[in-house]
Amino acid sequence: MAYIALYRAYRPQKFSDVVGQEHIIKTLQHAIEMNKVAHAYLFCGPRGTGKTTLAKIMAKAMNCINGPIKEPCCECEICKGIAKGTISDVIEIDAASNNGADDIRALRDTVKFLPAQGKYKVYIIDEVHMLSNAAFNALLKTLEEPPKHVIFILATTEPYKLPNTILSRCQRFDFQSISLENLNKRLHIVTNEENIKISEDALNQIAQSAEGGMRDALSLLDQCVSYSTNEEISLDDVLAVSGNISYYRIIDILNACISDNQTEAIVLLDKTLKEGKEAPRIANDIILFLRDVLLFKNNAIIEEKLMFTNQSFINLCNLLNKNLIYSWLNILNDSLNQMKFSTQKRAFLELAIIKMNDNKLNENANLLDRIESLENTIVLLTKNKGMNNNSNNISINNHNNSKSQYQINLPTDDAINKLKNTPKSEPTKEIEVNVNNISTNNIENLDYITIRDVEKILYDASKAKKERLNEIFKEIGEKYINIFVVQLLCRGHIVAATSNSFIVTMQDQSFCNRVMQYENYIKFKEIFSEYDYPLDDYICLPEAIWNRIALDYKMKYTVSNPKPVLENISIGVLKRKIPSNIGNDPIVSSVKELFSEENLKIVEE
Ligand SMILES: [Zn+2]
Repeated sequence: MAYIALYRAYRPQKFSDVVGQEHIIKTLQHAIEMNKVAHAYLFCGPRGTGKTTLAKIMAKAMNCINGPIKEPCCECEICKGIAKGTISDVIEIDAASNNGADDIRALRDTVKFLPAQGKYKVYIIDEVHMLSNAAFNALLKTLEEPPKHVIFILATTEPYKLPNTILSRCQRFDFQSISLENLNKRLHIVTNEENIKISEDALNQIAQSAEGGMRDALSLLDQCVSYSTNEEISLDDVLAVSGNISYYRIIDILNACISDNQTEAIVLLDKTLKEGKEAPRIANDIILFLRDVLLFKNNAIIEEKLMFTNQSFINLCNLLNKNLIYSWLNILNDSLNQMKFSTQKRAFLELAIIKMNDNKLNENANLLDRIESLENTIVLLTKNKGMNNNSNNISINNHNNSKSQYQINLPTDDAINKLKNTPKSEPTKEIEVNVNNISTNNIENLDYITIRDVEKILYDASKAKKERLNEIFKEIGEKYINIFVVQLLCRGHIVAATSNSFIVTMQDQSFCNRVMQYENYIKFKEIFSEYDYPLDDYICLPEAIWNRIALDYKMKYTVSNPKPVLENISIGVLKRKIPSNIGNDPIVSSVKELFSEENLKIVEE
């Protein structure tokens, strides 16, 4: 008997066999039960997530001898025939190869005939975005007036390429990438049933390399079975077939970087390249690894990975601070971009690794961590003691209280020891920080928020959205009491809100610039998603600037002109920009200023 590829052999036959996509299955089954099946569905999502599989199961459920039924029997002639592809009522068309208007017209001519064996004719058009314009028009005619016995299921990885006229006539379902956990589960089942011996590491790596696609996972497993000459498929086998680099190797390389062992790092890199891994793949794998480190450090683990229980991984996480990881990510991203346009890919990767070895990066990152913890303290103190808003100074005094109860959250001892000239201090009683010194004057390539950016949000804003956002701000402010920028944001005043963006005013321009920073944007995105608010954009404005804009808006706004063009004024708040070089980072320079003696006074009892 001919060998059947694993992904074909293990293609789910029933709704209950499908891994993931629970919400879609539930909706489809409900529609069948309630006799409310639509005449056209659009299944969108990444490859290998089960779109055509689910389309075929749907065809079975509608046509099964016992159907339409929530779950096809898979025993009757029709179910079996659909699985084998021998039932003429279920028509699968690959739009990649049949994309002309004639193909669709031929299809249209068959639509009017009643089903031969089953109850419904089901047309499954895969990769529907590949159809030509003429073909879309022909299809549209059919979708407009479909006979009762016809169901269209269109599948695509690129729904944005479809004309609106098609989109509006289909019930749309968005398929999600399959989670690592689900991929793992399925791989376990398949390897058990097929008696394939494979180490846990190797299996986990297959799931990771598949990036959310079941078909890719099973195909990779298939390849590993053919490749491996050992009794058990090992991690090395999988890495050789997939071209990925093992996380053990990444841990070694990064450990060499933080211990300033350039030679070791380069030797390890050389070894990896000699094993046949490509430079861009290596850079990309390290980026993904660092992302996992960040998630792990922030307790924001989305999916459990075997790696997270590995002691050498945990040790490395403890050694890396967030700001160092950000600067490494920048270096690697830059290097990946440079590789795109160069034949010297290897040289760029080596350069990146050498840059990552730079000890200054580590020191700067420590400084950034230290200022952040100081800021957290200031917020805590100001929250308790009230903040003097009239001057440029934030002063927190503890005269009234004889017991010293405020403590600065200093970084770990290790981090402090690396900081030169900054002695470890006891719990403090008085801190004075000159906020005006957090200047933005030394930023190069200044790019400011414009009135057009403000208009974009204003035009879309509504009162209801603002009220909802005010509630979210309140909750976030109470929950993230230790995060300085969150406290800054939540003390701001929301003046406009849409379903994914807002404008907030603050007293001080330097606060606006601070909150606008890219890393904070990323942080907020994460936090707001917890409150079902898919944050896409926000603008912070100094109150005085906003007052001018609001006045202009009120004067020009009429029912017939709900989107008035506003006066082009200078706003003075910097646009969000992905930091490119930590050495030029305005925070670093302001931290240095901030730490000079005039501005920071730590008084001991
Ligand atoms: Zn059946």
